[in-house]
Amino acid sequence: MSFRLSTRSRTRLKGVHPALVAVVEAALARSCIDFMVTEGLRTPERQAALVKAGASRTQRSRHLTGHAVDVAALIDGQVRWDWPLYGRIAEAFKVAAADLKTPIVWGGDWTSLRDGPHFELDRKVFP
Ligand SMILES: [Zn+2]
Repeated sequence: MSFRLSTRSRTRLKGVHPALVAVVEAALARSCIDFMVTEGLRTPERQAALVKAGASRTQRSRHLTGHAVDVAALIDGQVRWDWPLYGRIAEAFKVAAADLKTPIVWGGDWTSLRDGPHFELDRKVFP
């Protein structure tokens, strides 16, 4: 079973760091759960709106620099937010990242404000 990025997902990867795009592609190719990209590069205006709404706590989001993506799990083409799906997608991301030697951080591993749909390049290697 191998899924492919939709045209819409590809459009949303515009401006995202090529190393992260490669991880997204490799993760999807090996994932047992289909997913789409919901957001990549973000404008400062949108980030400010998200902080105001309480959806984000930082004005220094990795999305502003193209170092982060958000995904949504798809079951039979329908978006699902069930938490366990994101753990399984994260497994695919972590294996893909290790294969490509591109360190990433999963928002689901954060201890505060866990963010299951969020993946970003590790700041230590990609400042
Ligand atoms: Zn995010």
